[in-house]
Amino acid sequence: MKKISVFVLLFLFAASAGAIELPESNSVPGGVVVVPLYLDGQAMPRAEFQNRQVMVIRDGSRWLAIAGIPLKLKPGEYKLTTIADGKKNNYPIKIVDKKYPVQRLTIKNKRKVYPNKNDLKRITAEREKIGKAFVVWSYNPEPPLKFDLPTQGRFSSQFGLQRFYNDSPRPRRHSALDIAAPTGTPVYAPAAGTVINIGDYYFTGNTIFLDHGQGLITQYIHLSKVDVPMGMRVERGQKIGEVGATGRVTGPHLHWGVILNQTMIDPMPFIRADSLERNQAYLDSISNNADQKVGGS
Ligand SMILES: [Zn+2]
Repeated sequence: MKKISVFVLLFLFAASAGAIELPESNSVPGGVVVVPLYLDGQAMPRAEFQNRQVMVIRDGSRWLAIAGIPLKLKPGEYKLTTIADGKKNNYPIKIVDKKYPVQRLTIKNKRKVYPNKNDLKRITAEREKIGKAFVVWSYNPEPPLKFDLPTQGRFSSQFGLQRFYNDSPRPRRHSALDIAAPTGTPVYAPAAGTVINIGDYYFTGNTIFLDHGQGLITQYIHLSKVDVPMGMRVERGQKIGEVGATGRVTGPHLHWGVILNQTMIDPMPFIRADSLERNQAYLDSISNNADQKVGGS
């Protein structure tokens, strides 16, 4: 019992100390964990979780590992491993269960649920190109750990939903946050990054991937317009494209994904509180206007 409380305290300390704004640590499938490392070397240690390199940052006098937990990981005891000065160290990570709701969707374009032979050929080729974006690793000692919302609107589908398309018996997990907005609504870079992948893909339509460094990558899907070329460096708040309804959709929205150590994770712990407040004020203002319109006509 005592051991557990010390462990919890360390996590709380990790989330509150230092000048760096950290994502909220939550060791659930789809969550992110912040692990203080007991290594005092000046050289950045290598950290791994599930055989994948994990983000490491310097926070004052200590190193922190920041790892994304895959949605498919079963609750239980796992370990994060560090390799520094030729020595391995293990840090226990206890993953606890999280239940995500079920969502049923009807897609009018049946081929987007049951692709034909030619579609499957295209999907396979695209999967390889999209997969390359997931494994990008660029060194950045100060990666952004808080994001602005890339667009304003209602959160129409949360991360983690178990989705059934047209009553297909096998659910697919919704591994991003959907923000509903009219086609043409601007999409802004939520933090500085580099455009590492652009495409018009079968399922995701017009797509952009931004690399923020240390294995932190964001994706922007179903866009009507892409404003940035491959390889471009973008600043926080720069317009990168417009909301659309391309690919497999029920209507216009931005499907915004956050990838850490090649793992799709919940974007919510990364969103700045003031950005959420501004979005809520915007939603309140449009619902007030709608009420006024209804009342006046
Ligand atoms: Zn989505």
